[in-house]
Amino acid sequence: MSIKVSSNLPFSLVAKPIGSVCNLNCSYCYYLEKEKLYPHDQQQWAMSEKLLDTYIAQTIYTSRDPVVLFAWHGGEPIMRGMDFFSTVIRLQNKYGAGRVIENSIQTNGTLLTDDWCSFFRDNQFLVGISIDGPEHCHDHYRVYRNGQGSFNKCMKGLELLVKHKAEFNTLSAVNDYNAKYPAEVYRFLKSTGSRYMQFLPVVEWVDPEAKAAELSIQPANSKKNVEVTDWTVDPFDYGNFLVHIFDEWVLKDVGDYFVLTFDCVLANWMGVPPPVCVSAETCGHAGVMEYNGDVYSCDHYVFPQYKLGNIKEKSILTLMNDPSQLRFGHDKRDTLPAFCLKCEFLGLCNGECPKNRIINTPDGEPGLNYLCPGFKKFFKHTRPYFEFMANELQHKRPPSNVKKWASARQVES
Ligand code: SF4
Ligand code: SF4
Repeated sequence: MSIKVSSNLPFSLVAKPIGSVCNLNCSYCYYLEKEKLYPHDQQQWAMSEKLLDTYIAQTIYTSRDPVVLFAWHGGEPIMRGMDFFSTVIRLQNKYGAGRVIENSIQTNGTLLTDDWCSFFRDNQFLVGISIDGPEHCHDHYRVYRNGQGSFNKCMKGLELLVKHKAEFNTLSAVNDYNAKYPAEVYRFLKSTGSRYMQFLPVVEWVDPEAKAAELSIQPANSKKNVEVTDWTVDPFDYGNFLVHIFDEWVLKDVGDYFVLTFDCVLANWMGVPPPVCVSAETCGHAGVMEYNGDVYSCDHYVFPQYKLGNIKEKSILTLMNDPSQLRFGHDKRDTLPAFCLKCEFLGLCNGECPKNRIINTPDGEPGLNYLCPGFKKFFKHTRPYFEFMANELQHKRPPSNVKKWASARQVES
């Protein structure tokens, strides 16, 4: 099938101002080892001001969206330093000329100071804090190089954000350990002041025979002899995790606390584009730019075979509209196994992220999502509630009406 190249494709890039460099050494991190792609770098994987200038100018000039978004990730992007981010603001003002520009940054929180938090507040950055729950959950994998947990430093950073009234949300990786504590994780996150929560299931498979200089984490289509990592969340535990949190949320918190996974499901119930790619029919609109300008298909596909090119040689628009990238995005839909195509939940799930499609269907077809049994449990359990919320929205009533309805339903049963 040929793919039409469209120059109107909306896209965004996640930029890595200091590559994969990080002050932590979280066991499950899929990005730390990406420095192996650039083994002899003399710049210490730091994005230069010249490249930053090119990136910001290109992004602003090519964006047709009313709001121009910049997302800064790592590694630990704060390690690039405040001078760098001050230059970001200066260049955005220079090239923005009245455009609305928004910045978000994803951080482990451990290096946040009063100065950083005031900077983020003053420049209206949305700060995403990576935190996996209370101390025993967080410190299970989110550790320094000496094995020491990072919880206390992360919490200190979060408290500083609250003190300085900087806008923040939380991102929690759901792994084999914290998936067993859904209520504890959810209540803890609420207690930190987080109103916007994202739960990201950890699913990784590695080549146990990879040499030290090679990437061990493999893409879903790897032909190597791969193994699922110990920290990968069990599919049933993941389903339970979502169901438990949903049950608490639907009775008390709809309208006050926002869980991105739930927003996605509701969007799919409503037939509107979900806020996150994993729940959409196709993807490929969110690339990654490494510190040196190399652009890859997605944050989870930073592999040599998914490199689209470099912004010093081709524009971001050209790279993101490359036929291989369009194919990458359409493959999310076009490579679904027949098992998914027949699934009653396809419209809600869309096979989730292709990176997690590492198992065979019951009849042996490859390409089924590892988390499928958990998704099914979650979709089945939540169906009446989402149906109710979608109906409320369709009638221009607040979906939070579901709280009363859910309480009454619980009393009846
Ligand atoms: S591969 Fe997964 S994370 Fe990447 S863009 Fe597609 S759905 Fe999103
Ligand atoms: S729930 Fe399972 S079978 Fe259904 S679409 Fe999702 S991954 Fe496929």
